[in-house]
Amino acid sequence: MRILIVEDEARIADFLERGLRAEGHFCVVANDGEAGLALALDGDFDLVLLDLMLPGIHGREVCQQIRVNKVDTPLIILSAMDSLDDVITGLRMGADDYMTKPFSFEELLARIETVTRRSSEITTQEKSLATGPLEFDRSSLRFSVDGREIKLTAKELAIMELLMSNPGTLFSRERILSNVWGLNMDPLTNVVDVYIGKLRKKIDAENAESFIETVRGLGYRLRVV
Ligand code: CA
Repeated sequence: MRILIVEDEARIADFLERGLRAEGHFCVVANDGEAGLALALDGDFDLVLLDLMLPGIHGREVCQQIRVNKVDTPLIILSAMDSLDDVITGLRMGADDYMTKPFSFEELLARIETVTRRSSEITTQEKSLATGPLEFDRSSLRFSVDGREIKLTAKELAIMELLMSNPGTLFSRERILSNVWGLNMDPLTNVVDVYIGKLRKKIDAENAESFIETVRGLGYRLRVV
């Protein structure tokens, strides 16, 4: 995903940028409200992470202006202002979520997943996902390669849907596990690797490079073809 980070504190901006890059995202950092607003209005971002106490324009105003200008990019406020009033005001300004600092990076990832899934459900529900020769029709749950239908189990379909939602993006085993099997699975299980193996047997042509790339020690991603 393309993520805009609007944060004036270099330490926090750095931490976010490094963490999100490691998860396979592309990040742009704006250090004040003005730059953040301009980028949010012009840039083609999938998500905005917005601090409130910013030099120049206050984050609340940034958020409001983004929505007034009919930009509906998912937006999460990250702020040290933690009163219920602050949270409610932020959500009323059009933020999709509000996290108070300090926060755990794992929780941020989970919230990002929720708000971006919500928005992609709104814009692309009922549509099919397609990457190169791979196609997944969400309404009929039909998966095909080069127009040839391939029978996949529910779990296999869920993995493909996840990978195809963001081709080229790295998905850690933990993310695949929590998305497809739920959070209660033992994180040490190798079930993800087993299912990826099954999927490869079904969808890859013999001797061809696999559609699903292994990123050693990190996870998997869909090859952009
Ligand atoms: Ca700040």
